[in-house]
Amino acid sequence: MEPVLQAAMAQFHRAADHLVLPDRHRALLTSFKTTYQTQFPVEMDDGSFRVFEGFRVIHNSARGPTKGGMRYSSRLTLDETRALAMWMTWKCAVVNVPFGGAKGGVRVDPLTMSNGELQNLTRRFTTEIIPIIGPDQDIPAPDMGTNPQVMAWMMDTYSMAKGYTIPAVVTGKPVSIGGSEGRYEATGRGLLYVLEEHLAAEGGIVGRSAAVQGFGNVGGVTSTLLQQAGAVVRYISDLEIALFHPEGIDATAAWMHVEAGGSLASWHAEHPNAAEPVAHEAVLEADVDVLVPAAVDSVITGQNADRIRARLVLEGANGPTTPEADDILDERGVTVIPDILANAGGVTVSYFEWVQARQYVQWTEGQVNAELRRLMVSAYRNVVARCPIGSRGVCSQREAAQWLAIERVVEAIDRRGIYP
Ligand code: GLU
Repeated sequence: MEPVLQAAMAQFHRAADHLVLPDRHRALLTSFKTTYQTQFPVEMDDGSFRVFEGFRVIHNSARGPTKGGMRYSSRLTLDETRALAMWMTWKCAVVNVPFGGAKGGVRVDPLTMSNGELQNLTRRFTTEIIPIIGPDQDIPAPDMGTNPQVMAWMMDTYSMAKGYTIPAVVTGKPVSIGGSEGRYEATGRGLLYVLEEHLAAEGGIVGRSAAVQGFGNVGGVTSTLLQQAGAVVRYISDLEIALFHPEGIDATAAWMHVEAGGSLASWHAEHPNAAEPVAHEAVLEADVDVLVPAAVDSVITGQNADRIRARLVLEGANGPTTPEADDILDERGVTVIPDILANAGGVTVSYFEWVQARQYVQWTEGQVNAELRRLMVSAYRNVVARCPIGSRGVCSQREAAQWLAIERVVEAIDRRGIYP
């Protein structure tokens, strides 16, 4: 088992021990309802073809149709997909949206593909998984390496196969074809709402310093929203470059540049005085109030957890902190707002999008954001009610979020009973 799946399993067993979960429930919740693995050819621009491998894993559907992103990444494995699917089950349960958990993707570096090749790959992969996805069955969404355009191709391919347009088969689509206002920013906005709630009793966000690792849909939007909320974003970074400014970086300008097709490095080249390049480790080890890991899993580990200086870690990525690191951070009194709570804004607005698509209605961005805030704040309060902030050595917010999620999933399993 790969370390990332080991981590997801270890988190689960720790929570299951606390809940004194019977073995039969443990067996069910550490297994995966459906594992779909496919190798398929894609025609490339030069007329040749390449074979790619794709996955879709459905972890548990006790609470409803399953939900989770589609990841295009050169390091995607089945175990990683499984870990991510399991986290989706807990995430949907923490924010109490009526979905189970799933995840999928293709092992590919999308940056090496042309737009046409990506479309071919997406359409062929979607065709391969038609038997297991569907608006009442399993509903994909964007994740690392995918975006609204990829969702549009998935929706179109699925609809062509069925013979009519089925907008609710994916979420995170462009607004023009049944996507939701506010979905694109939803993960970042959810992180902001959770942070605002967390800091409400401690003087709020204005003037707080932050370091954000990752500058994609999650890190880029989060940096921008933090800046707009009055925080001082001292560090931002992507794979290529890490940037620092003691007075704060104009993350909004950097994000606009990246959104327009540029890179963080080219933004820096155009504005050399806006920030100075630093080593990548400097971001995670920054002396700031809030650290937001918003890139990949397993970046805060047993090796570097004692060098984290922020007092608060707000997990934008899925699985950025390993269980060993969790223990070290807890011992050091660092609060971690866990992924399955902190970054649940994406799937929450995916739920709103699915509801709108099924009803053929369109909410305003104001409605979407107000409902998002309500669900995120309520989830945060439910978690903190189970483990108050500062319960060092007694419990963590990750454990509390897992307890809440597992209890809700177990309630659904027990109410439904085992078929036949
Ligand atoms: N990929 C996102 C996540 O990891 C969103 C999933 C969804 O909206 O279904 O939470």
